[in-house]
Amino acid sequence: MLNFFCTQCNKSYPSDTKAWRCACGGPFSLSFQPPRFDPKVLVHRYPSLWRYRETIPIESDEDLVTYNEGFTPLTKHKFSGIDVDLKLDYLFPTGSIKDRGSTVLISKVRELGISEIVEDSSGNAGASIAAYCARAGIRVRIFVPDSASPNKKQQIELYGARLEAIRGTREDVAEATHRVADRGVYYASQIWNPFYIHGVKTLAYEIAEQMKWNVPDFVLAPLGVGTIILGLYQGFNELRELGVFDKFPKIVGVQSAQCCPLYDLWQKGKALDSYLSTTIAEGIAHQSSPRDFEVIESIRKTDGAILIVKEEEIVQAFSQLANAGFYVEPTSAVVLPGLKRLAESTSLSNRRVVVILTGSGLKYRINSKRQGAEQPKANI
Ligand SMILES: *Cc1c(COP(=O)(O)O)cnc(C)c1O
Ligand SMILES: [Zn+2]
Repeated sequence: MLNFFCTQCNKSYPSDTKAWRCACGGPFSLSFQPPRFDPKVLVHRYPSLWRYRETIPIESDEDLVTYNEGFTPLTKHKFSGIDVDLKLDYLFPTGSIKDRGSTVLISKVRELGISEIVEDSSGNAGASIAAYCARAGIRVRIFVPDSASPNKKQQIELYGARLEAIRGTREDVAEATHRVADRGVYYASQIWNPFYIHGVKTLAYEIAEQMKWNVPDFVLAPLGVGTIILGLYQGFNELRELGVFDKFPKIVGVQSAQCCPLYDLWQKGKALDSYLSTTIAEGIAHQSSPRDFEVIESIRKTDGAILIVKEEEIVQAFSQLANAGFYVEPTSAVVLPGLKRLAESTSLSNRRVVVILTGSGLKYRINSKRQGAEQPKANI
Protein backbone atom coordinates (compact mmCIF):
# COMPACT_ATOMS: atom_id res chain seq x y z
CA MET A 1 0.00 0.00 0.00
CA LEU A 2 1.35 3.38 -1.01
CA ASN A 3 1.17 6.33 1.32
CA PHE A 4 0.01 9.88 0.99
CA PHE A 5 2.10 12.51 2.67
CA CYS A 6 1.12 16.09 3.40
CA THR A 7 3.01 18.58 1.24
CA GLN A 8 2.89 21.08 4.10
CA CYS A 9 3.60 19.17 7.35
CA ASN A 10 4.81 15.84 5.93
CA LYS A 11 2.33 13.78 7.98
CA SER A 12 1.71 10.38 6.40
CA TYR A 13 -1.69 8.77 5.61
CA PRO A 14 -2.61 5.46 3.91
CA SER A 15 -3.54 6.22 0.30
CA ASP A 16 -6.98 4.61 0.74
CA THR A 17 -7.91 7.41 3.16
CA LYS A 18 -11.25 9.10 2.49
CA ALA A 19 -9.77 12.38 3.75
CA TRP A 20 -9.19 14.79 0.89
CA ARG A 21 -6.55 16.84 2.66
CA CYS A 22 -4.36 16.70 5.74
CA ALA A 23 -5.69 17.72 9.14
CA CYS A 24 -3.44 20.80 8.78
CA GLY A 25 -5.24 21.76 5.54
CA GLY A 26 -2.34 20.86 3.24
CA PRO A 27 -2.74 18.87 0.00
CA PHE A 28 -1.47 15.28 -0.21
CA SER A 29 1.16 13.85 -2.51
CA LEU A 30 1.75 10.18 -3.20
CA SER A 31 5.02 8.56 -2.13
CA PHE A 32 5.80 6.65 -5.28
CA GLN A 33 8.95 5.18 -6.77
CA PRO A 34 8.54 4.23 -10.43
CA PRO A 35 9.54 0.60 -10.94
CA ARG A 36 12.37 -0.11 -13.39
CA PHE A 37 10.96 -0.49 -16.82
CA ASP A 38 12.56 -0.96 -20.18
CA PRO A 39 11.13 1.16 -23.03
CA LYS A 40 11.63 -1.87 -25.32
CA VAL A 41 8.58 -3.54 -23.76
CA LEU A 42 6.44 -0.78 -25.29
CA VAL A 43 6.92 -1.81 -28.89
CA HIS A 44 4.01 -4.25 -28.93
CA ARG A 45 1.64 -2.29 -26.73
CA TYR A 46 -1.51 -0.45 -27.76
CA PRO A 47 -0.84 3.30 -28.26
CA SER A 48 -2.72 4.64 -25.26
CA LEU A 49 -1.47 6.29 -22.08
CA TRP A 50 -1.88 2.91 -20.34
CA ARG A 51 1.14 1.63 -22.26
CA TYR A 52 3.13 2.99 -19.28
CA ARG A 53 1.13 0.64 -17.05
CA GLU A 54 4.02 -0.16 -14.69
CA THR A 55 4.36 3.47 -13.71
CA ILE A 56 0.68 4.01 -12.90
CA PRO A 57 -0.19 3.20 -9.29
CA ILE A 58 -3.37 1.12 -9.76
CA GLU A 59 -2.99 -2.45 -8.55
CA SER A 60 -5.30 -4.64 -10.60
CA ASP A 61 -6.03 -4.35 -14.34
CA GLU A 62 -9.61 -5.33 -13.53
CA ASP A 63 -10.21 -1.95 -11.94
CA LEU A 64 -9.07 0.13 -14.90
CA VAL A 65 -11.67 2.59 -16.17
CA THR A 66 -10.43 3.46 -19.62
CA TYR A 67 -11.40 4.23 -23.21
CA ASN A 68 -7.87 3.32 -24.42
CA GLU A 69 -7.24 7.05 -24.43
CA GLY A 70 -4.06 9.01 -24.92
CA PHE A 71 -0.88 8.76 -26.96
CA THR A 72 -2.13 11.92 -28.66
CA PRO A 73 -0.29 13.16 -31.77
CA LEU A 74 2.85 15.28 -31.55
CA THR A 75 2.64 17.49 -34.63
CA LYS A 76 5.16 19.95 -36.03
CA HIS A 77 4.21 23.51 -36.89
CA LYS A 78 5.88 26.89 -37.33
CA PHE A 79 4.46 29.98 -35.57
CA SER A 80 6.05 33.37 -36.35
CA GLY A 81 9.21 31.61 -37.51
CA ILE A 82 9.46 29.40 -34.43
CA ASP A 83 9.45 25.63 -34.92
CA VAL A 84 7.36 23.81 -32.34
CA ASP A 85 5.92 20.39 -31.64
CA LEU A 86 2.25 20.66 -30.75
CA LYS A 87 0.89 17.99 -28.41
CA LEU A 88 -2.73 17.56 -29.44
CA ASP A 89 -4.26 16.83 -26.05
CA TYR A 90 -7.58 18.32 -27.10
CA LEU A 91 -8.16 15.02 -28.90
CA PHE A 92 -9.23 13.06 -25.82
CA PRO A 93 -12.63 11.31 -25.50
CA THR A 94 -14.16 14.24 -23.59
CA GLY A 95 -12.25 16.94 -25.48
CA SER A 96 -9.61 17.89 -22.95
CA ILE A 97 -6.37 16.89 -21.30
CA LYS A 98 -8.36 16.20 -18.09
CA ASP A 99 -8.97 12.62 -19.27
CA ARG A 100 -5.34 11.77 -18.49
CA GLY A 101 -5.97 12.32 -14.82
CA SER A 102 -9.56 11.06 -14.79
CA THR A 103 -8.80 7.60 -16.18
CA VAL A 104 -6.34 7.01 -13.32
CA LEU A 105 -8.34 8.72 -10.60
CA ILE A 106 -11.61 6.96 -11.41
CA SER A 107 -9.76 3.64 -11.69
CA LYS A 108 -8.56 4.31 -8.14
CA VAL A 109 -12.12 5.12 -7.04
CA ARG A 110 -13.25 1.78 -8.47
CA GLU A 111 -10.35 -0.01 -6.76
CA LEU A 112 -11.46 1.52 -3.47
CA GLY A 113 -14.99 0.20 -4.08
CA ILE A 114 -16.54 3.67 -3.83
CA SER A 115 -19.94 4.14 -5.46
CA GLU A 116 -20.52 7.88 -5.13
CA ILE A 117 -18.18 10.87 -5.54
CA VAL A 118 -18.24 14.65 -5.74
CA GLU A 119 -16.09 16.99 -7.80
CA ASP A 120 -15.88 20.66 -8.83
CA SER A 121 -14.71 22.24 -12.01
CA SER A 122 -14.92 25.15 -14.43
CA GLY A 123 -16.25 22.59 -16.91
CA ASN A 124 -13.63 20.35 -18.49
CA ALA A 125 -12.69 18.37 -15.39
CA GLY A 126 -16.38 17.95 -14.59
CA ALA A 127 -17.15 16.62 -18.06
CA SER A 128 -14.16 14.32 -17.91
CA ILE A 129 -14.91 12.89 -14.46
CA ALA A 130 -18.58 12.51 -15.45
CA ALA A 131 -17.64 10.46 -18.53
CA TYR A 132 -15.39 8.10 -16.57
CA CYS A 133 -18.07 7.70 -13.90
CA ALA A 134 -20.56 6.85 -16.67
CA ARG A 135 -18.21 4.12 -17.84
CA ALA A 136 -17.61 2.81 -14.30
CA GLY A 137 -21.21 3.09 -13.08
CA ILE A 138 -20.27 5.48 -10.29
CA ARG A 139 -22.71 8.15 -9.12
CA VAL A 140 -21.29 11.68 -9.26
CA ARG A 141 -22.25 15.24 -8.39
CA ILE A 142 -20.37 17.95 -10.30
CA PHE A 143 -20.29 21.53 -9.02
CA VAL A 144 -19.58 24.25 -11.60
CA PRO A 145 -19.92 28.04 -11.73
CA ASP A 146 -23.26 29.11 -13.17
CA SER A 147 -21.21 31.02 -15.77
CA ALA A 148 -19.49 27.88 -17.13
CA SER A 149 -19.79 27.26 -20.88
CA PRO A 150 -23.29 25.95 -21.72
CA ASN A 151 -21.72 23.24 -23.87
CA LYS A 152 -19.63 21.98 -20.95
CA LYS A 153 -22.66 21.96 -18.63
CA GLN A 154 -24.69 20.08 -21.22
CA GLN A 155 -21.90 17.55 -21.66
CA ILE A 156 -21.72 16.92 -17.89
CA GLU A 157 -25.47 16.37 -17.64
CA LEU A 158 -25.68 14.13 -20.67
CA TYR A 159 -23.03 11.85 -19.20
CA GLY A 160 -25.54 11.35 -16.42
CA ALA A 161 -23.89 13.35 -13.63
CA ARG A 162 -25.90 15.51 -11.25
CA LEU A 163 -24.94 19.07 -12.21
CA GLU A 164 -24.86 21.71 -9.45
CA ALA A 165 -24.47 25.16 -11.00
CA ILE A 166 -23.41 27.63 -8.30
CA ARG A 167 -23.82 31.36 -8.59
CA GLY A 168 -20.50 32.98 -7.69
CA THR A 169 -16.82 32.61 -8.31
CA ARG A 170 -14.83 29.45 -8.93
CA GLU A 171 -13.83 29.66 -5.26
CA ASP A 172 -17.49 29.73 -4.11
CA VAL A 173 -17.98 26.57 -6.16
CA ALA A 174 -15.01 24.94 -4.44
CA GLU A 175 -16.39 25.84 -1.00
CA ALA A 176 -19.78 24.32 -1.77
CA THR A 177 -18.02 21.15 -2.89
CA HIS A 178 -15.82 21.00 0.20
CA ARG A 179 -18.95 21.06 2.36
CA VAL A 180 -20.20 17.90 0.64
CA ALA A 181 -16.74 16.29 0.82
CA ASP A 182 -16.51 17.10 4.52
CA ARG A 183 -19.76 15.18 5.06
CA GLY A 184 -17.92 12.06 3.82
CA VAL A 185 -18.60 11.85 0.07
CA TYR A 186 -15.35 10.89 -1.69
CA TYR A 187 -13.82 13.98 -3.29
CA ALA A 188 -12.38 13.02 -6.69
CA SER A 189 -10.67 16.35 -7.18
CA GLN A 190 -8.16 17.03 -9.92
CA ILE A 191 -6.60 19.60 -7.64
CA TRP A 192 -6.48 17.72 -4.32
CA ASN A 193 -6.31 14.03 -5.22
CA PRO A 194 -2.73 12.88 -5.97
CA PHE A 195 -3.85 9.98 -8.18
CA TYR A 196 -4.96 12.54 -10.75
CA ILE A 197 -1.38 13.84 -11.14
CA HIS A 198 -0.19 10.26 -11.75
CA GLY A 199 -2.39 10.22 -14.83
CA VAL A 200 -1.30 13.62 -16.10
CA LYS A 201 2.34 12.55 -15.83
CA THR A 202 1.84 10.23 -18.84
CA LEU A 203 2.05 13.45 -20.88
CA ALA A 204 5.81 13.51 -20.15
CA TYR A 205 6.21 9.80 -20.99
CA GLU A 206 4.42 10.25 -24.30
CA ILE A 207 6.43 13.32 -25.28
CA ALA A 208 9.68 11.52 -24.42
CA GLU A 209 8.73 8.39 -26.35
CA GLN A 210 7.47 10.37 -29.35
CA MET A 211 10.81 12.22 -29.37
CA LYS A 212 12.65 8.86 -29.33
CA TRP A 213 13.45 9.17 -25.65
CA ASN A 214 15.00 12.60 -25.96
CA VAL A 215 14.05 15.45 -23.72
CA PRO A 216 12.72 18.68 -25.25
CA ASP A 217 14.34 21.98 -24.29
CA PHE A 218 11.05 23.67 -23.34
CA VAL A 219 7.50 22.56 -22.62
CA LEU A 220 4.78 25.23 -22.58
CA ALA A 221 1.33 24.74 -21.06
CA PRO A 222 -1.52 26.90 -19.75
CA LEU A 223 -1.37 27.31 -15.98
CA GLY A 224 -4.44 27.44 -13.75
CA VAL A 225 -4.06 25.52 -10.48
CA GLY A 226 -1.08 23.68 -11.94
CA THR A 227 -2.00 20.02 -12.44
CA ILE A 228 -0.52 20.01 -15.95
CA ILE A 229 2.73 21.55 -14.69
CA LEU A 230 2.87 19.13 -11.74
CA GLY A 231 2.11 16.16 -13.98
CA LEU A 232 4.85 17.18 -16.41
CA TYR A 233 7.29 17.58 -13.55
CA GLN A 234 6.30 14.23 -12.00
CA GLY A 235 6.69 12.42 -15.33
CA PHE A 236 9.98 13.99 -16.38
CA ASN A 237 11.38 13.50 -12.89
CA GLU A 238 10.46 9.79 -12.97
CA LEU A 239 12.11 9.45 -16.37
CA ARG A 240 15.23 11.04 -14.91
CA GLU A 241 15.13 8.65 -11.97
CA LEU A 242 14.75 5.75 -14.38
CA GLY A 243 17.89 6.97 -16.14
CA VAL A 244 16.16 7.65 -19.46
CA PHE A 245 17.80 11.10 -19.60
CA ASP A 246 19.63 13.29 -17.17
CA LYS A 247 18.18 16.73 -17.63
CA PHE A 248 14.80 18.42 -17.35
CA PRO A 249 13.02 20.33 -20.04
CA LYS A 250 12.37 23.87 -18.87
CA ILE A 251 8.72 23.86 -17.89
CA VAL A 252 6.89 27.09 -18.73
CA GLY A 253 3.40 27.89 -17.42
CA VAL A 254 1.29 30.60 -19.06
CA GLN A 255 -1.39 32.59 -17.20
CA SER A 256 -3.81 35.33 -18.22
CA ALA A 257 -2.52 38.75 -17.10
CA GLN A 258 -6.02 39.37 -15.69
CA CYS A 259 -5.82 36.41 -13.38
CA CYS A 260 -2.23 35.52 -12.54
CA PRO A 261 -1.75 34.65 -8.86
CA LEU A 262 1.02 32.14 -9.51
CA TYR A 263 2.90 34.56 -11.75
CA ASP A 264 2.76 37.20 -9.01
CA LEU A 265 3.88 34.68 -6.41
CA TRP A 266 6.74 33.64 -8.68
CA GLN A 267 7.81 37.17 -9.61
CA LYS A 268 7.00 39.16 -6.47
CA GLY A 269 6.62 36.54 -3.75
CA LYS A 270 3.05 37.64 -3.15
CA ALA A 271 -0.30 37.32 -4.92
CA LEU A 272 -3.07 39.94 -4.87
CA ASP A 273 -6.20 39.39 -2.74
CA SER A 274 -8.30 39.01 -5.85
CA TYR A 275 -8.13 38.98 -9.63
CA LEU A 276 -10.55 39.58 -12.47
CA SER A 277 -12.01 36.20 -13.33
CA THR A 278 -13.66 37.35 -16.56
CA THR A 279 -10.77 36.18 -18.73
CA ILE A 280 -11.76 34.36 -21.89
CA ALA A 281 -9.31 31.68 -20.71
CA GLU A 282 -11.97 30.32 -18.33
CA GLY A 283 -10.18 27.02 -17.75
CA ILE A 284 -7.31 28.77 -15.96
CA ALA A 285 -9.25 31.51 -14.11
CA HIS A 286 -8.31 30.53 -10.56
CA GLN A 287 -7.77 33.04 -7.76
CA SER A 288 -5.19 30.80 -6.12
CA SER A 289 -3.93 27.23 -6.01
CA PRO A 290 -3.70 24.94 -2.99
CA ARG A 291 -0.53 23.62 -4.63
CA ASP A 292 1.02 27.02 -5.40
CA PHE A 293 4.40 26.38 -3.76
CA GLU A 294 4.66 22.90 -5.29
CA VAL A 295 4.03 24.39 -8.73
CA ILE A 296 6.58 27.14 -8.27
CA GLU A 297 9.13 24.72 -6.83
CA SER A 298 8.68 22.38 -9.83
CA ILE A 299 9.13 25.21 -12.29
CA ARG A 300 12.17 26.47 -10.41
CA LYS A 301 13.80 23.02 -10.36
CA THR A 302 13.53 22.79 -14.15
CA ASP A 303 14.85 26.35 -14.58
CA GLY A 304 11.51 27.17 -16.23
CA ALA A 305 9.25 30.22 -15.96
CA ILE A 306 5.74 31.56 -15.54
CA LEU A 307 4.64 34.03 -18.21
CA ILE A 308 1.55 36.20 -18.55
CA VAL A 309 -0.34 37.20 -21.68
CA LYS A 310 -2.93 39.86 -22.40
CA GLU A 311 -6.57 39.28 -23.13
CA GLU A 312 -6.39 40.60 -26.70
CA GLU A 313 -3.41 38.34 -27.35
CA ILE A 314 -5.42 35.30 -26.21
CA VAL A 315 -8.36 36.27 -28.42
CA GLN A 316 -6.05 36.70 -31.39
CA ALA A 317 -4.17 33.44 -30.72
CA PHE A 318 -7.48 31.56 -30.54
CA SER A 319 -8.24 32.64 -34.14
CA GLN A 320 -4.65 32.13 -35.26
CA LEU A 321 -4.61 28.54 -34.00
CA ALA A 322 -7.93 27.81 -35.70
CA ASN A 323 -6.62 29.38 -38.90
CA ALA A 324 -3.72 26.94 -38.74
CA GLY A 325 -6.17 24.06 -38.32
CA PHE A 326 -5.92 23.61 -34.56
CA TYR A 327 -9.45 24.02 -33.21
CA VAL A 328 -8.84 24.58 -29.51
CA GLU A 329 -10.68 26.54 -26.84
CA PRO A 330 -9.43 30.01 -25.83
CA THR A 331 -7.89 28.68 -22.59
CA SER A 332 -5.54 26.58 -24.70
CA ALA A 333 -4.60 29.56 -26.85
CA VAL A 334 -2.58 31.31 -24.11
CA VAL A 335 0.43 29.19 -25.08
CA LEU A 336 0.86 31.02 -28.39
CA PRO A 337 1.49 34.53 -27.01
CA GLY A 338 3.41 32.68 -24.27
CA LEU A 339 5.69 31.29 -26.97
CA LYS A 340 6.24 34.79 -28.39
CA ARG A 341 7.06 36.10 -24.91
CA LEU A 342 9.54 33.28 -24.38
CA ALA A 343 11.20 33.97 -27.75
CA GLU A 344 11.67 37.62 -26.75
CA SER A 345 13.89 36.64 -23.83
CA THR A 346 15.55 33.43 -25.08
CA SER A 347 16.80 32.27 -28.45
CA LEU A 348 14.68 29.32 -29.56
CA SER A 349 16.64 28.49 -32.71
CA ASN A 350 17.72 24.86 -32.67
CA ARG A 351 15.68 24.34 -29.52
CA ARG A 352 12.94 21.74 -29.31
CA VAL A 353 9.86 23.37 -27.95
CA VAL A 354 6.77 21.33 -27.11
CA VAL A 355 3.50 23.24 -26.79
CA ILE A 356 0.55 21.51 -25.12
CA LEU A 357 -2.87 22.13 -26.71
CA THR A 358 -5.23 21.25 -23.89
CA GLY A 359 -8.91 21.65 -24.79
CA SER A 360 -11.19 21.34 -27.80
CA GLY A 361 -12.73 24.38 -29.48
CA LEU A 362 -15.91 22.40 -30.04
CA LYS A 363 -17.01 23.17 -26.48
CA TYR A 364 -16.65 26.89 -26.91
CA ARG A 365 -19.18 29.23 -28.53
CA ILE A 366 -18.35 32.79 -29.45
CA ASN A 367 -20.84 35.15 -27.77
CA SER A 368 -21.97 32.61 -25.23
CA LYS A 369 -19.65 34.07 -22.63
CA ARG A 370 -20.41 36.09 -19.55
CA GLN A 371 -20.27 39.88 -19.54
CA GLY A 372 -16.90 41.51 -19.41
CA ALA A 373 -14.94 38.81 -21.21
CA GLU A 374 -13.32 39.81 -24.43
CA GLN A 375 -14.92 38.32 -27.54
CA PRO A 376 -13.16 36.97 -30.59
CA LYS A 377 -14.68 38.27 -33.81
CA ALA A 378 -16.01 35.43 -35.89
CA ASN A 379 -14.17 35.70 -39.14
CA ILE A 380 -16.85 34.28 -41.42
C1 LIG B 1 -7.73 22.37 -16.69
C2 LIG B 1 -7.25 23.00 -17.94
C3 LIG B 1 -6.04 23.71 -17.99
C4 LIG B 1 -5.19 24.04 -16.80
O1 LIG B 1 -4.87 23.07 -15.90
P1 LIG B 1 -4.50 23.44 -14.41
O2 LIG B 1 -4.32 22.16 -13.76
O3 LIG B 1 -5.63 24.22 -13.80
O4 LIG B 1 -3.24 24.26 -14.43
C5 LIG B 1 -5.65 24.22 -19.21
N1 LIG B 1 -6.40 24.06 -20.33
C6 LIG B 1 -7.58 23.40 -20.30
C7 LIG B 1 -8.37 23.28 -21.56
C8 LIG B 1 -8.03 22.86 -19.11
O5 LIG B 1 -9.21 22.21 -19.11
ZN1 LIG C 1 -0.36 18.51 6.96
